[in-house]
Amino acid sequence: MFDALTDRLTGVFDRLSGRGVLSEKDVDEVMREIRVALLEADVALPVVRDFIAKAKDAATGEAVIRSVRPADQVVKITYDGLVEMLGGEGEPESLNLSLNPPTVILMAGLQGSGKTTTAGKLALKLVKDRKKVLLASLDTRRPAAMEQLGMLAEQAGASFLPIVAGQSAPDIARRAMQAAKLQGFDVLILDTAGRTTIDEAMMSEAAEIAKIATPSETLLVADALTGQDAVRTAKAFHERLPLTGLVLTRADGDGRGGAALSMRAVTGLPIKFLGVSEKIDGLDAFDAARVAGRILGRGDVVALVEKAAQELDMAKAEATARKLAKGQFDLDMMADQLSQMKRMGGMEGMMGLLPGVQKMKRQIAESGLTDKTFDRQLAIISSMTKAERKKPDILQASRKRRIAAGSGVDVAEVNRLLKQHRQMADTFKALSKNGGKGLAQMARMLGA
Ligand code: GDP
Repeated sequence: MFDALTDRLTGVFDRLSGRGVLSEKDVDEVMREIRVALLEADVALPVVRDFIAKAKDAATGEAVIRSVRPADQVVKITYDGLVEMLGGEGEPESLNLSLNPPTVILMAGLQGSGKTTTAGKLALKLVKDRKKVLLASLDTRRPAAMEQLGMLAEQAGASFLPIVAGQSAPDIARRAMQAAKLQGFDVLILDTAGRTTIDEAMMSEAAEIAKIATPSETLLVADALTGQDAVRTAKAFHERLPLTGLVLTRADGDGRGGAALSMRAVTGLPIKFLGVSEKIDGLDAFDAARVAGRILGRGDVVALVEKAAQELDMAKAEATARKLAKGQFDLDMMADQLSQMKRMGGMEGMMGLLPGVQKMKRQIAESGLTDKTFDRQLAIISSMTKAERKKPDILQASRKRRIAAGSGVDVAEVNRLLKQHRQMADTFKALSKNGGKGLAQMARMLGA
């Protein structure tokens, strides 16, 4: 569904590839072309604007890596922008299953969006995960839709709540919940009624069912190929229902995929799955990095730039190490360290990287040093002037009061930070003298 966008972007990158240094004018021109490519792919205007502003910053900002060809850099910046637009790096989104079975999953969406098919596809996925799944149709106005779900349940190896003629949707929801509880189902999937357009009756019925069923997941199924209509529909549903995620169907189609690209940014909801065929196994977990990679089709370039960025980080780290060895450690460097620790996944993530740190973990837990501490400490440092950051010795009581007020903490916390900084500076100095045996000292420092 992103073929046209891929072609356009490839054209932009190809024209760049022969160029050496990119001037600001070149960057402007490239960004204009990318902007047109995104708009033509039907990405929503505010999303495109945001993307271009960030990409321009990245292309002209400090983070530009000199050792990388400008064209490759632009590919990487575009890739990063797309990944962010689609929800960011990390594990693909998964279903939030309740600890207290049965987990209820509510399916919402317009008629024809692929809602019923997706309910069946999800059931199959869960059955493959050894879950006992019950499907129930609340589409009282369309007997055919009910029968369709019954057939899908059979294909998926899931159970189907028998149809009782004349029951209202809320009554069916109650009956389904009771059956799921009594018969020990792990997951109950409720397929709500669809209409061709959003109307009040449909919305209030769906909202009432959400109240009755208190679902762990309320998924909006939207046809990715209906363009901006899909985005408007998602917004309207989101206003009335406690949606937890999106499923975009027909990702296998060949229309313009811009709606899929805008959806996350416009609604703030994670895209959890992509429908990729009419078949019951045609549902993929959504992985932002993989989709962005597929749109650009330049995985090699992205990997290359990432490697160069790592090398740059290494070079920076070496420069820091040289300064530390000379006993230079100012508050700017401390702020760098804190930001880096945060990037590495905070305390938990960082500790996970080091071998044999159970004891350290305990010390940290006892010291009350949490990830919020990083944020507060960074706020304190950024409330200082440049001179104060270079030479913390000049920080007398009045300056400390100003900094505390500026960063929303009390003076005691500023003092704690300064003490920690002194300890770090001392430790680094000692470390560089005895050339290594550092972990024990670092543990003491962090436990302080
Ligand atoms: P509902 O009215 O929202 O319940 O929609 P249905 O589940 O009945 O789907 C409508 C049509 O779309 C059916 O023909 C499905 O086979 C088809 N469909 C659903 N999801 C996908 C998908 O991801 N890819 C393709 N190609 N077709 C799909």
